[in-house]
Amino acid sequence: MPITLDQLNAAPLAEAALMLDGLYEHSPWIVEAALKQRPFASLAALKHAMVRVLNEAGVEPQLALIRAHPELAGKAMVSKTLTAESTNEQSKAGLTNCTPEEFAHIQRLNADYNAKHGFPFILAVRGPRGTGLSKAEIIATFERRLHNPVDFERAECLRNIHRIAEIRLNDKFGFDPVLGNAVWDWHEDLARHTDPGYAELGQLTVTYLTDAHRTCAAQLQRQMLALGFDEAHIDVVGNVVGRYHGNTPDAPALLTGSHYDTVRNGGRYDGRLGIFVPMACVQQLKQAGQRLPFAIEVVGFAEEEGQRYKATFLGSGALTGHFNPAWLDQQDADGITMRAAMQNAGLPATLEAITALQRDPSKYLGFVEVHIEQGPVLNELDLPLGVVTSINASVRYLGEVIGMASHAGTTPMDRRRDAACAVAELALYAEQRAATDGDSVATIGMLQVPNGSINVVPGRCSFSLDLRAPSDAQRDALETDVLAQLQAICARRGVRHTREETMRAAAAPSAPAWQARWEAAVNALGVPLHRLPSGAGHDAMKLHEVMPQAMLFVRGLNSGISHNPLESTTSDDMDLCVRAFAHLLEQLAAEHPN
Ligand SMILES: [Zn+2]
Repeated sequence: MPITLDQLNAAPLAEAALMLDGLYEHSPWIVEAALKQRPFASLAALKHAMVRVLNEAGVEPQLALIRAHPELAGKAMVSKTLTAESTNEQSKAGLTNCTPEEFAHIQRLNADYNAKHGFPFILAVRGPRGTGLSKAEIIATFERRLHNPVDFERAECLRNIHRIAEIRLNDKFGFDPVLGNAVWDWHEDLARHTDPGYAELGQLTVTYLTDAHRTCAAQLQRQMLALGFDEAHIDVVGNVVGRYHGNTPDAPALLTGSHYDTVRNGGRYDGRLGIFVPMACVQQLKQAGQRLPFAIEVVGFAEEEGQRYKATFLGSGALTGHFNPAWLDQQDADGITMRAAMQNAGLPATLEAITALQRDPSKYLGFVEVHIEQGPVLNELDLPLGVVTSINASVRYLGEVIGMASHAGTTPMDRRRDAACAVAELALYAEQRAATDGDSVATIGMLQVPNGSINVVPGRCSFSLDLRAPSDAQRDALETDVLAQLQAICARRGVRHTREETMRAAAAPSAPAWQARWEAAVNALGVPLHRLPSGAGHDAMKLHEVMPQAMLFVRGLNSGISHNPLESTTSDDMDLCVRAFAHLLEQLAAEHPN
């Protein structure tokens, strides 16, 4: 019989502890301490209470907990002394069924990992969907994580322990994240389509108007209709637009969505999560036969990443009247113009048709977007969701420092005019200056000595500079300081520089009322509220120009890595996200009665 939250909240402490027995390997103290914070409003709240207990316990108890775990496919498994929970998990992952070669390989990894880190490798082998990682995935993860710094791995092991506990807790409560599982599976299904050359490598790449891109659009359109949208069509720039009508024909609409194109060898969730989550909500409404006092318009934006053409935010830009006519003549790497690509896709490719996509903001309540965080913050805090306060302002430069190339052997240190050292000094300054703000970031991502030689003091050094901050004013202050320092470094070193501004984007602060709705939704789930700025640009930035917007972030695993096949999140987190979105819809319905 599964436990209920009411039973857990009402039971005497010892009895409640017994209900949660075995969540944390040989460490009942975590559950016991967490239970002192009863009653819990939700499973999510209980999970986070246990996370906090372990966080506050300090390093020694954390290490003891890690060391209480068996090695993967280790001696305990062979001698059958694993706990029942561990046996179940390791056998689901096929680890009780290794070939002698695989077994030997895992034993070697176990030994190397233990020697380096001083504790066993911990991995939630049931994985982000709860159904089990493959042996190949487990071994690849093991090989990758072996090289992480020890401190990082200690935290990563604890995160995996919390994930193991989450799955064990779900089992005890008979809880299945049904909505999250569905959304997770939809991502898998869409990720089958990838551009030529990448399919063979098992990589996901979907760029503007390729065959794979058009297959994705058609699949999204079909799926929207199958889930219960009243209308779904592909517009003249390739956006997939689904509409679930409100309870009156003239009801305003909530606009939502994100992009379905990807970077090259990208992740599965970047963009697509923001399409699928509202699709799951519409499915729920349809099944319940429910209509809201507003329509829901879900858009799968055709292009956000600027990969095939330099036309970033093409999809959302078309809705705000920011389609640049010059883009039509732009050529891809094979010399195919965007106009030709559109015509090949059966799209009219006329400016008139594209301009007609522009939305009338007075017909919309606002825009919301769900997105995977693409950063490490929520993962480190062990929080599934985060509310975005602002999409960062940014500015970018390309520049060059010009010094004097001279003989590396004969030029004394005090006579050099080393261009690369000047840029290196700038990079260190920018790093330290951005860090003093706490939430600004500065990056010199490109630093090159053209035609450099091992025995020549660098005479030229080209560089890029990318500065971002949550507000325009904070970005401007950062920019002023960094550029002043560049001037000062050049003067002191006797070098000069050139620079060209290549991009400047204003911050897109969340509309307070919309941010508050996300916050209320997160609170209602019993998940601790965390606010954070978005360091990356998103479609919401474009919609920001014409209507109020706010975003919700979902935790990414693997340090939140993105634009990378390791991008991942769990079906449990997706489930919470769908429920947060549904809560936002409920709030809006209550605010707009008719
Ligand atoms: Zn994205």
